Amino acid sequence: EAALVLEGIEKGYNRGKPSEVIVLRGATLSVARGEVVALVAPSGAGKSTLLHIAGLLDTPDRGRVVHGGREMGGLSDRTRTEARRAEVGFIYQFHHLLPEFSALENIVLPQLANGVAQREAEARGRDLLGRVGVAARADHRPAALSGGEQQRVAFCRALANAPKLLLADEPTGNLDPATSEQVFSALMELVRETGLSALIATHNLELAARMDRVVRLDQGRVV
Ligand code: ADP
Ligand code: ADP
Repeated sequence: EAALVLEGIEKGYNRGKPSEVIVLRGATLSVARGEVVALVAPSGAGKSTLLHIAGLLDTPDRGRVVHGGREMGGLSDRTRTEARRAEVGFIYQFHHLLPEFSALENIVLPQLANGVAQREAEARGRDLLGRVGVAARADHRPAALSGGEQQRVAFCRALANAPKLLLADEPTGNLDPATSEQVFSALMELVRETGLSALIATHNLELAARMDRVVRLDQGRVV
């Protein structure tokens, strides 16, 4: 069973208005369990829209979204939000860490919100930070960390609640090439170790080539 199936996804904004823009025109894509898929497309092609639909943050105008064999289409907003929190981890180009909390706290908080006990949440947070090489920075606030370290902490936060699917939107887009390489390697190791399925949007064709499969978004379709 695939971790993610998107079938015939259509999505537009401002439908029926002069400012209407049709972004997705029947996009179909499947991510197998444990598979890491690169999503490559020029800016404005609809990567973020596709990732938001895949991650249950937005709903398509038409088409099916299936997570691990479960249809997400007919769900109530509440059930969809619960599924998102339990099953999907997001990473963005900018880390979006909470500035007033330490690196560790940023990974602990989503676990507490998910009902995990403090002690267990901290242990998992430290373990994740160790795996991406930033254990020594656990008690620092994001502002005290380098860009690469901040992004590694953001990966740990995305994985805090052990999601089944990781969605990343230009996760190294804000980093210089050397840092980008280090951070991407750390991410891939973490993904492989946890057997996670991932859809990773990137402009970087070298990084894309190191994933299991590369798909392209062209004219609103996945090719
Ligand atoms: P990408 O991530 O590939 O850059 P996006 O999915 O962000 O592309 O956007 C695809 C197109 O949809 C762009 O033309 C963008 O301007 C438009 N768009 C995205 N979000 C909205 C919105 N909320 N309202 C109107 N247009 C939008
Ligand atoms: P919380 O459990 O803290 O309430 P949410 O359920 O709101 O978090 O969000 C779960 C995930 O979805 C987080 O990774 C968050 O960054 C992401 N997210 C929530 N809303 C949006 C949005 N409008 N755009 C992009 N990402 C979002």
